[in-house]
Amino acid sequence: MTVRLRGICDFLGGQIYPMNRLVTIATFDFPSEAHTLKVLLEQHGLEVFLADDNLVGTNWFLSNSVGGAKIQVPESQVEEATKIIAENRQDSRQNLKSSAKPDVEFECEECGKTISFSANRRGGVETCPYCRKYVDVPD
Ligand SMILES: [Zn+2]
Repeated sequence: MTVRLRGICDFLGGQIYPMNRLVTIATFDFPSEAHTLKVLLEQHGLEVFLADDNLVGTNWFLSNSVGGAKIQVPESQVEEATKIIAENRQDSRQNLKSSAKPDVEFECEECGKTISFSANRRGGVETCPYCRKYVDVPD
């Protein structure tokens, strides 16, 4: 705990914000990934701090205990930051999806609900998420 506090104090140039302390919202093994997220959050007008970035690798006991570069935001902005991260993850998933084959969509023979499976399940046997019966996925 002393180590962690010291890190934050160093990082803020020795200042401590007791009413609006920094919260780590993401940890990265590679500082470059942390930088990418920092830029994204800053684009949304958040106050973002990259902690332990340059401490990793120079201080063996710190890099052991902190586990990489950390993205920190003031406690009051945590909710918004996590929302942005979640939206961003969704976006990249959607981009991935649109470049892949479309999902298979069909009606369950048992319950009549429209169900869908990813394209790589074509021609296989799956379980209907609604009625739990086995269904044949069309080719
Ligand atoms: Zn069904």
